[in-house]
Parts: sequence; structure tokens; C-alpha cells
Amino acid sequence: MALPKIKFTQLFIDGQFVDAVSGKTFETIDPRNGEVIAKIAEGDKDDIDLAVKAARHAFDNGPWPRFPPSERRRMMLKFADLIDQNMEELAALDSLDAGKLYSLGKLVEIPNAAEKLRYYAGAADKIHGSTLKMSGQLHGYTLREPIGVVGLIIPWNFPSQMFTMKVGPALAAGCTMVVKPAEQTPLSALFLAHLAKLASLPDGVLNVVTGYGHSAGAAVSSHMDIDKVSFTGSTEVGRLVMQAAAATNLKPVTLELGGKSPFIIFDDVDIDKVADLAWRAITYNKANPIPIFGEICVAGTRVFVQEGIYDAFVVKLLEKVESWVVGDPFDPNVHQGPQVDEKQYNKILSYIEIGKKEGATLLTGGKPAANKGYYIEPTIFTDVTDDMTIAKEEIFGPVMSLMKFKSVEEAIKRGNATKYGLAAGVMTNDLNIANTVSRSIRAGIVWINCYFAFSDTLPYGGYKMSGFGRDMGMESLESYLQTKSVAMPIHNSPW
Ligand code: NAD
Repeated sequence: MALPKIKFTQLFIDGQFVDAVSGKTFETIDPRNGEVIAKIAEGDKDDIDLAVKAARHAFDNGPWPRFPPSERRRMMLKFADLIDQNMEELAALDSLDAGKLYSLGKLVEIPNAAEKLRYYAGAADKIHGSTLKMSGQLHGYTLREPIGVVGLIIPWNFPSQMFTMKVGPALAAGCTMVVKPAEQTPLSALFLAHLAKLASLPDGVLNVVTGYGHSAGAAVSSHMDIDKVSFTGSTEVGRLVMQAAAATNLKPVTLELGGKSPFIIFDDVDIDKVADLAWRAITYNKANPIPIFGEICVAGTRVFVQEGIYDAFVVKLLEKVESWVVGDPFDPNVHQGPQVDEKQYNKILSYIEIGKKEGATLLTGGKPAANKGYYIEPTIFTDVTDDMTIAKEEIFGPVMSLMKFKSVEEAIKRGNATKYGLAAGVMTNDLNIANTVSRSIRAGIVWINCYFAFSDTLPYGGYKMSGFGRDMGMESLESYLQTKSVAMPIHNSPW
């Protein structure tokens, strides 16, 4: 695969690629070697103001919210087809910017980004209110209206998929929007903006402002003329977004935040299959065959194994590590690419040091996996206790904590012993245990005998400090709509 040419480096506002008002740029870095890929326009508050102005004009006066829904659907389907037609380039941009495996991007992530648009395109003409009985001679009904101008702030771990996951329902609802991609991964977002224009989305409907979180991102969450913010990222920044929304125009926010998900394995399982799944539950998103290694919020990083199979399970996991290849994400034989940037790389290595200092046993890995670039060895700790930092904090890297448990009750209690509640996995052939544990774990999604089983139809989001609100499914579409109640007399009698 030849490396992609970088065609778009400017902000996309009101249907045009433009420089930042300040004229500033920032560098986006190749995690394979730490070299500069391109200089990207550095948007800040002034640019967000311009983008919001364009989105507001498109919402208040433009055709998008007024189109028959079938017309919105038609353009969204065209946008999706264009993503498919440019799959290789988009996959390559995400590999270059985020260190994601190219093969996986092409096979899974970019097609899925297109599918998300199709899913919501299909919903555009199925948005409707209800007719309601009122007392006396009154007749009431509800209208479902787009919430207005929305701010969509996204992280770097799934740049293209996160983009369409939020843009899709917002477009279907008839909203107009300002997208703020992560500073680590601006490339595919700008390319997607170009595709939206080719799909004939009217000017101002979709704007993309690249730049840093503390400036461009903060300007989105505190903007008085943005009607809703949907944010995916860290719990720490989610709190800032919510504070800014509360301190300004009380805009509703949806927060998809961090996780520390339990992956609970009971001793009646087939160890071979489950070791494979557990491995993927931590390595997903930089790993073949299923999708940056552990750089996924739902990673099953706390692996609880029932005592009867614990030792055999450790042996199987080590076999997985032996055949694991860390290297260039463009190489089809590689299982795991680099971490996204130097900051993330250093953060993961420091968590590994903390794990060792606090007394966990380093079973394998624990070091950089190359002399240059941000590569880290797959790392497994045993003898991890629930109070250790590596068992409590989100590491967002290829670091697994293995823990032994005895009973169902203990598994539930320890699985829930976290401030997060994003996801969980339960592996057992016993239906009673599967039902009991899945209902007792406080998490937004529980997988029984599978992991990373996502679908556009399945709402996805967190309990506790993993956030609130849902992406995907019809629940997400709902959050871009608001309800207007209308009441009128049945007979046109004056009151
Ligand atoms: P981050 O919170 O640092 O950044 C996310 C986005 O917020 C970026 O676009 C960033 O520029 C922006 N941002 C930063 N500071 C801001 C501010 N003050 N105001 C407004 N926006 C600001 O997160 P990250 O390091 O990019 O991503 C990793 C985190 O995302 C992890 O914690 C992970 O769990 C979480 N995540 C959650 C989900 C989910 O669905 N729950 C999915 C993927 C990632």
C-alpha cells in the first residue's frame, strides 16, 4: 500500500476549505516514527464562531431541515457510497494518523463508517410524533423536531467511525453541525468533509474545525449558539464539557467516556476459545484479526478468571503472545501497530512501571517494542489486586490485568468495583450464571460469550462515570430531536 497523499489540511467551513483566522497550523505526527505527516490548520474560538454561524444560517434558513426526509436520505446514501468508493484512502489516512492496522480499516472500519450513515439514512423518514388525547374538546399531538446546531467532539481511536456515528443521526434528524476531530487524527475528518461536499450536502450543514481541545473543543462546549454537544473522550474532559455547557446556555450533552471493563471467565468454558476472545478483548483496535491495541474504551482490561482454570488459562494466553507481531500497521502480517502518539506511549509505559512498583507480577511484555515509533509490547500482569492503580485507572493500551476469583458473587462484586460502567464480558455455558451476572453488572453493554459484538442497531454508552446518553441505535437519533407538543380545539370553538 502506497502511503496516501495528504490533500486536505484546511478547516471546512460553510462548504469551503479555509485557513484558520489566526493563520496558525499544528503538526500531525506519524506514530510509526514520530515524523511530521502534515501541517493542519489550527482552528480556535474565532473559527468555531464562523463554523457555528454557518451552521446556524443553514439551520435557520437553509434547505437541510426543510427537505423532505427522503431527500436527506438520498444525500446521506450518496455520502455513504462515496466513503465506500474511497475506502482505501480513508483506511490509509487513519493508519497513518493513528497507527491503526490498514487491513482492518479497509475490511471493517471504513465499510462500517459508511454503514452507519446508511443506517441513519434509513431512519430519516421514520421520525414521527404521536396523537394524544386531551381533556375536554382538545386535540393534542407531538412534533419531533431537530434540536438545532450540534457540536460533535470526537477522539482519535476510531476517527472515521466516530465521525459517522455522530454525524449520521444528526444529519438524519435535520440538524446542522460543527465537528471537532481529535488533534491527533485530523486527516480522515477533512477527507470526509470533502466527500460530504461531493454528496451535495448544502453548505453550512457539516463543518469541520481541526485544532486543540483546550481552544477549539472548549469553544464548542461553551458556545451560546450550539444547541447540543455530543462528546466522546476521557472522563476528565467530559466533566469540563458538561461544566461549560452548564455555565453557558444549558445545552444538553451526551458523554461517552472512559472505561475499565471486567471480562469474567467462569471455569466451565472452552479455554482455547475464551483465551482467544480475552486476548482480542484487550487487543482490539490495533490488532488483527479483529480490529490500536487496547486503545478502545470498552477494552476488557480487568480479566477475572475462576480459580479452576486460572493456571491453564495463563498458559494459553502466553501462547497467544508468542505468535503476536508488533510492527508497521501497513504490513498485513502485523497484529498490532503503534500507540497513537508520544503522550499516550509514555502514559502507558508509566502505568506499567506503577503496576510493577505496586506489587503486580509482570508475566510478559512491559517494554517498548521498537527503537523508534510508539510501539509497546503486549503486556500481562498477574497477582493484580482490586486496589492497584492498574486495576482502577484506564490505561488505554496493551496492558491486561489478570485476577483470580472463586464465586459468582465475588465476580459480580469485583466486576462492579470501579467508577466506570461502560462494558463487561461474561464467559460461561451456564445460563443461570450468564443471566445473573449480566443483570448484576452495572455497565452500558454486557457481552455474553462474545466481546466487541457491536451493531449500528445496538445503543452504546455508559453507566456511572463512563457517561450518559447513547450513541448508535434509535436512542442516538432521539438525542438529536426534541419534542414539541401542539394542542388545539377539535371544533374551532373560541375559548
Ligand atoms: P480526550 O478527552 O483528551 O479528547 C477527546 C476530544 O476532546 C478531542 O477531540 C479533544 O481535542 C477534545 N478536548 C480536549 N480538551 C477539551 C476541552 N477542554 N473541551 C472540549 N473538548 C476538548 O480523549 P482522547 O485521549 O482523545 O481519547 C481517549 C479517551 O476517549 C479515553 O478515555 C477513552 O475511553 C475515551 N473513549 C470513549 C469512548 C466511548 O464510547 N465511551 C470511545 C472512544 C474513546
